[in-house]
This record gives sequence, structure tokens and C-alpha cells, in this order.
Amino acid sequence: MIDYENLGLLNKPFFDEFKAAFSDTLESGWYILGNKVKEFETAYAQYHNVKHCLGLANGLDALILALRAFNFAPGDEVIVPSNTYIATILSIAQCGLKPVLVEPDIHTYNIDPEKIPAAITPRTRAIMVVHLYGKSCEMDKIMAIKEKHNLVLIEDCAQSHAASFKGQLTGTFGEFGAFSFYPTKNLGALGDAGAILCNDDELATAIRRLRNYGSDVKYYNEVVGYNSRLDEVQAAFLSVKFKYLAQITEHKRKLADIYHQGLKSDFIKPVVHPDYFDVYHIYNIRHERRDELKQFLLDNGVKTDIHYPLPPHHQKAMKGIIEGTSYPISEEIHRTTLSLPCSYCHTTADIEKVVEVINKF
Ligand SMILES: *Cc1c(COP(=O)(O)O)cnc(C)c1O
Repeated sequence: MIDYENLGLLNKPFFDEFKAAFSDTLESGWYILGNKVKEFETAYAQYHNVKHCLGLANGLDALILALRAFNFAPGDEVIVPSNTYIATILSIAQCGLKPVLVEPDIHTYNIDPEKIPAAITPRTRAIMVVHLYGKSCEMDKIMAIKEKHNLVLIEDCAQSHAASFKGQLTGTFGEFGAFSFYPTKNLGALGDAGAILCNDDELATAIRRLRNYGSDVKYYNEVVGYNSRLDEVQAAFLSVKFKYLAQITEHKRKLADIYHQGLKSDFIKPVVHPDYFDVYHIYNIRHERRDELKQFLLDNGVKTDIHYPLPPHHQKAMKGIIEGTSYPISEEIHRTTLSLPCSYCHTTADIEKVVEVINKF
């Protein structure tokens, strides 16, 4: 059986270094906001060539704190893709703001810049883009819209570590780049973790405050904050893993290339274009008989996944929050998409086997 993902196997090459990092943190006696968090923040900011990185508890919090930093008024609108993981939209709802859904491009699965202007109203304050599956959005067009309409831009980079558009890393285009280091992400911790990137000193101060009870000085509170700090021990693990991000990315790109070369044309494959450096957090294909294909693969020893089975606007939790009930492009993607094994835990032989099996469908 070929797993869709196997976190034990994925992390095995790093066990010795993880154990040393844990031991070091344990013996330091400092467990919250210490040197381990600082070290990771410094390295992650440097890699992106941005001024600030703030370690946070998880990716959802990164999005929530990013929105909170602007003190938007209740009911202000945030443009967001109709085709995303629910966390993106939850962050908007959690802040009392209104998500305005814009359909994706059927080829890239990311928000369609051509459709954004029609969604802008006098209440629009921000665009929250998602670099889904590890492919950057069309950032030149989105930056032009942001500037023309004077909107805040927040990037959900939970699936796009090391991905870039025309040579620029995702997470460095907007006011904030919000990252998740959930264990399955391309840069994954051994528990929940997240971070925000930004260049603006005041915005960085706002996030630093918000993650720590709204406090700059211990026991003095400036705003109604959260407790959303990156743990020292997760930061220590992340510093280990981060050294191998390029290697992990290259591995996933190599596996994606095997699919790209080998899959027969019955399957709609991800678009490959020189402007985009894709990191394949998820390698998806689309097929009319997706459920049948999934079962066929399972019967033949290949586990797959679906990202995602139910679109946000059909989620029970979104009743009264998302306006509009028809987002046909998002629905089409949700109906036909299938995620194939494409993890650091897989060998090229695993993927060749998947290609062999799936081409028999
Ligand atoms: C994983 C993910 C999140 C949430 O990150 P957590 O760390 O699990 O809170 C947000 N947005 C997208 C697109 C994701 O894939």
C-alpha cells in the first residue's frame, strides 16, 4: 500500500537532530518566547528578505492576527477566493468581517484577478489571497489591483513555503504573509505552529502585542490580545527542518515531474509555467469520475485524498456568513479534484508505481 502521507517516515531523516534540539530546549529551562523562537524568526525573515518574522501558535491565528492588526470596522469586507481551505474564511468571520468570495481560475485553482474588481465595494478593506496547493497567485495583477484601490493585501501561505512568482517568494508581496507549520505542510513542525512575515515596524509591533495578551511590557496591556505564541520546542524543531526546506521542495518537484511526464492525458494535470516556481504542497489532478478513480486507486494499493470535498459556501458553519450560493468554478474543482501521493516520504519508485496504476483507469 502506498500511503497518501506518512509523517513518521517523512520526519525520520531528522530524528537525531530533533532529539538534540529537544534536549537542548529542555535543558535551557526557557520554554516560551526565548532564543529558539528568536533564532527561527531571524532565519525565516532573512530567507524571505523581509524585516520581521513573528512566530505564532498556528496558521489560522496568523490570519486572524493579520486582520486584527488593522482594526477594521465590523462588517468591513475582505475579498477571498471561493476555492480555499475553510481556515482562510474562518479568520475573516472570527474578526467580525464579511468574506466576499471571488471565483478561481479553473487552470491555476487560485483567485482569478480579472474577477476581483467587480467584487470591490466602498466597504472593501483587504484582499486575502491563498497560494493554493503550493502555486503562487498571479501576483503582478493582484498588486496592481491592491494599489489602484488602496487595499490591504494578506497572503495565506500555509501551502506555499518557498513558492515564488517571477522570482519573488510568496509571503513577501502583501502587508502580511501568514504561514502555517502544521505537520503536513511543506515546512512542518511536530505540532501546531505558525508565523507572520512583514516589513512594516508598526505592523510588526501590533502582531507582537496581539500574540502576547496585547502587552508590550509584562502586566501592562495595550489592546485586547490573544495568547498565540510559537512554542520554543516547536521553533527548535522548525529550525532543524528549515535547513532542509530546499531539499524537501526539490524532492516534491521531482515527484511532481514524474506525474507530469507519466500521467496520460485523461487526467487534468496542474499547469506548469515558467513564471511560477511551484512547491506542490498538494499534487492534484482532476477527473470527471473522481470518486470512482479514488476507489480504483485504493483497490490497487494507492491512498489518495481530496482537497477539498465540500466548498466553503456549502459548509454549515458558513450559513449567514457567506453570501451567494452559486460558485460554479469552485464547485467544479471540488467535484473533480483528487490529490495524489507527493510527499517527502515517497520515493520516485513509489510515484512511478502510482503512475502505472492510475494509467490503467
Ligand atoms: C493549513 C491551512 C491553514 C491553517 O493552518 P493551521 O496551522 O492548521 O491553523 C490556513 N489556510 C490554508 C490554505 C491551509 O492549508
